[in-house]
Amino acid sequence: MAPLEGLRYAGTVVACSNRTTGKMSSFWIYIRRRAKVVSRRARELRMIWRGLVSTDHPVMAHIVPIRRCNLTCAYCNEYDSTSKPVLVGTMLRRIDRLAALGTTVITISGGEPLLYPDLDFLIRRIRHHGIIAGVITNGYLLTPERIHRLNRAGLDHMQISIDNVTPDDVSMKSLKVLDRKLQMLAEHAEFHVNINSVVGGGVRNPEDALAIGRRAVELGFTSTVGIIHDATGQLRPLSGKEREVFLAMRKLEKSSYAQINYFQDDVAQGRPHIWQCRAGARYLYVCEDGLVHYCSQQRGYPAKPLEQYSLEDIRREFLTRKPCAAYCTVSCVHQVSYMDFWRAPQTIRPCSRTQPAAPANEPIVQIQSIGR
Ligand code: SF4
Ligand code: SF4
Repeated sequence: MAPLEGLRYAGTVVACSNRTTGKMSSFWIYIRRRAKVVSRRARELRMIWRGLVSTDHPVMAHIVPIRRCNLTCAYCNEYDSTSKPVLVGTMLRRIDRLAALGTTVITISGGEPLLYPDLDFLIRRIRHHGIIAGVITNGYLLTPERIHRLNRAGLDHMQISIDNVTPDDVSMKSLKVLDRKLQMLAEHAEFHVNINSVVGGGVRNPEDALAIGRRAVELGFTSTVGIIHDATGQLRPLSGKEREVFLAMRKLEKSSYAQINYFQDDVAQGRPHIWQCRAGARYLYVCEDGLVHYCSQQRGYPAKPLEQYSLEDIRREFLTRKPCAAYCTVSCVHQVSYMDFWRAPQTIRPCSRTQPAAPANEPIVQIQSIGR
């Protein structure tokens, strides 16, 4: 592709050609982007307001319409290579149920959600309910045409995780492979794009995260850094070099986008982070079988069908202490839990599927984890 002649509109790079049509089209993309930013901000403020006023609804839910993925990242326990897509009618009913529970953000993940044939229907249904719609993808299947369809469906947020600069035996989510896709997004996307890079176990060159973050900011996207966790979502301690890169990335984040990831400062130093995980209440992970779990890394509890998930479940889990919280690196659950840090100390100990919730003086039963 010809190098971008960058027109920078309030932090967004828009590619343009010298031709008048190119300039006109960039202009209209810019106008539509600004209109969508205003609409999205209004809905985000509403989400925060509702979250502050009441604790009786989920702030965010992740749904999985397909477990299959086109990649095989070595550290990942969230994919397989055989699953069929969930029927679209079933997925629409799940979205309706989440809306009935008062959910304010629904993010579609996987597996690889761009493999799901009816993804646009799901996004439209989420937006029909006034809910903020997000997608987490590896980006491989993006084309200009696909991006325009996502624009038309009303997508609000997209997150792409990039693990390294050049592909290796751990991950093919590489800047070298995906840079062309990022340029397409810079040119065509009307939704917000965040590029997440990672430090920690398995990533060969920690400096790659910085190169990825800088490229993201250069293209007008926001950039975050994650810390690779083990199979249960727990911290793998960072080496000295990894910690250095992590801290440099945090500075990059602050210069580009106000990120709510304060827990990472403790986690990067190997210190326990004191917080109240509100998974099962403010955050729901709904797997491809339609069961509600705490999060992607603690599948197995409560493992209750979404259609039976009730206000009683939300209230119980809001007050249930999670034994895996101190070294947890699951950032989306941290983010939604910040909203309630100041209220309702957690007094219920967790239980397994075979035991009821225990009073505070009973020993903690380890949450079950299902690896894939
Ligand atoms: S990390 Fe993402 S892209 Fe990689 S295998 Fe897992 S689901 Fe697929
Ligand atoms: S603390 Fe919460 S988000 Fe983190 S692994 Fe445990 S249940 Fe999941």
